[in-house]
Amino acid sequence: IDCIVGDCLPTKRYGGIQSVKKIYVVGIGPGEYEQMTIRAVKALESCDVIIGYTVYVDLVREHFAGKEMLTTPMRQEEKRCRMAFDEVMKGRNTAMICSGDAGVYGMSGLIYEISRDYPGIEIEIVSGVTAALSGGAVIGAPPMHDFAVISLSDLMTPWTLIEKRLAAAESADMAICLYNPSSKKRRDYLNKACRIVMQSASPETVCGIVKQIGREGESCQVMTLQKLSNYEADMFTTVFIGNSTTKVINGKMVTPRGYKLSE
Ligand code: SAH
Repeated sequence: IDCIVGDCLPTKRYGGIQSVKKIYVVGIGPGEYEQMTIRAVKALESCDVIIGYTVYVDLVREHFAGKEMLTTPMRQEEKRCRMAFDEVMKGRNTAMICSGDAGVYGMSGLIYEISRDYPGIEIEIVSGVTAALSGGAVIGAPPMHDFAVISLSDLMTPWTLIEKRLAAAESADMAICLYNPSSKKRRDYLNKACRIVMQSASPETVCGIVKQIGREGESCQVMTLQKLSNYEADMFTTVFIGNSTTKVINGKMVTPRGYKLSE
């Protein structure tokens, strides 16, 4: 059966990290140790093995000495997940790490899908601070109100659907946060996305980018939508497109919540 409606059950997980052998799927936040949640740190401390994409494993390596670290390159996500199940089958507590949150363009969904081949293995997802939030904090308060998160990667999503989502979010005047704005093969995607948004938004809309959030070289820049459309983003950039009310306040990008302020 693919879909059954379950009872409302207590989750048993409240109260901390348990020592049963299981896979933890851990969002490590944007990069620096201080931006990991305490729960994520405890989960990794309880593990024997930490598995992840090379860049993420390098980010946590120095804080979890003594753990076995296994890495796979990008695009080998299924292999990485199966590695995690194989390690748990050997009786070792295993963490699969992802940047930001594991459930936002991360591995938690894939871990559940693959878990059907490994019945009986427990899975626990540990949420982390996703780039929309950690990057938002760097550049000001761009989400603040209703916002949409859209990835420009068309590796697994057809571009026509991405365009539809961009247009829908913009027509509802939502602030938009773009992940995966660019890569070597997709240099013009941010430009294409901005042109779609400009079909209903003003070219003067307040926008911004944040690079290397919580990592060496972190930087941010506020700019108009027009300027953003010619910006050369890389894959370590998160892009923010304001809604029609977003303003620049002291150099920061701020979407008002709507409070009526006293004069
Ligand atoms: N699971 C991650 C997202 C993975 S998709 C999360 O929740 O944050 C990868 C994209 O996320 C990147 O192309 C970039 O747009 C964004 N991103 C993730 N970490 C980032 C960081 N430290 N600095 C800037 N952008 C980041």
